[in-house]
Amino acid sequence: MSESTESGVENVVILGSGPAGLTAALYTARADLQPMMYEGKEPGGQLMTTTDVENFPGFEEGIMGPDLMGVMKKQVARFGTRFDYDEVIGVDFSSQPLVLHTASGKNVKTQTVIIATGAAARYLGLENELRLRGNGVSACATCDGFFFRGVEVVVVGGGDSACEEAGFLTKFASKVHLLVRRDELRASKIMQHRALNNDKIQIHWNTEMTDVLGEKTVEGVAVKNNKTGESAQWKNIQGVFLAIGHTPNSKPFLEALDHDDQGYLITAPDSSRTNIPGVFACGDVQDHTYRQAITAAGSGCMAAIDAERWLESQES
Ligand code: NDP
Repeated sequence: MSESTESGVENVVILGSGPAGLTAALYTARADLQPMMYEGKEPGGQLMTTTDVENFPGFEEGIMGPDLMGVMKKQVARFGTRFDYDEVIGVDFSSQPLVLHTASGKNVKTQTVIIATGAAARYLGLENELRLRGNGVSACATCDGFFFRGVEVVVVGGGDSACEEAGFLTKFASKVHLLVRRDELRASKIMQHRALNNDKIQIHWNTEMTDVLGEKTVEGVAVKNNKTGESAQWKNIQGVFLAIGHTPNSKPFLEALDHDDQGYLITAPDSSRTNIPGVFACGDVQDHTYRQAITAAGSGCMAAIDAERWLESQES
């Protein structure tokens, strides 16, 4: 990593290295703003745990998530963005320059900040579910599916993620039980079709997971039918995959920035501007509607242009 700008105050610091952050870096670097990127705890973001990406334009045959992020990062690096694996854990946005406090103890001064910290997988919050995380409980089939060869697993959720994860898990598991809390799937029609027509996926409607059984690893689950009230324990389950949505990674900014009740940062209409001048947000940390790699990338471009124009406005 090279040194900061001569004055010790950065032009633009980008937080997060998913499609939003990397696109913001591409544009700000090409605008000669010498951006500094803090990649955060999960460099590359959520696509690093995805398999085939078939809906990112430009890849006729599709591309694997990690490959897409690898290519994006190489493209960005060509234009001189500086990268650091550090993570921002606190901010002082009370005056210019803005100050970012990192996990390793740095206090970074900057004129503009582009927040592209994304979102993280949600868990139900059951005590045993959290205790057995990493020991049979996972929120990433792509990362952990391989370990469940020839056994039965449960997927919780009814959206695109749940259907995608369930389908992926059928490559390894002998059977996948999809627990859907309502009597319909939220997933898109094509994903529903795939899940409903996969012989290895059994969908359990109106069914909630109430506990995860097992001492050191998962040895079963407790479930309840929320229509009939009927409870059961399934002792044939060795893996539990949560696919119930995401929480925005906005904690360090919640005191300083306007946000909704779920913690998504609020930006001005048709803009990436937050309530603090010089602070912009893009990607999943401010978008609970679209949440696609391509929309994140698009909003990263918007944030870069907004930051560039804001810096120009300070000069005049
Ligand atoms: P969603 O918010 O779309 O779906 C979450 C699912 O989890 C819903 O079925 C919801 O039920 C269920 N759920 C939420 N909380 C609980 C709970 N406490 N107990 C049980 N079930 C619960 O999230 P996804 O992660 O599936 O998708 C997010 C976005 O990413 C979407 O826009 C989706 O289209 C996109 N995506 C696209 C993919 C693709 O195109 N290949 C792949 C994956 C995601 P309910 O319906 O009752 O609210």
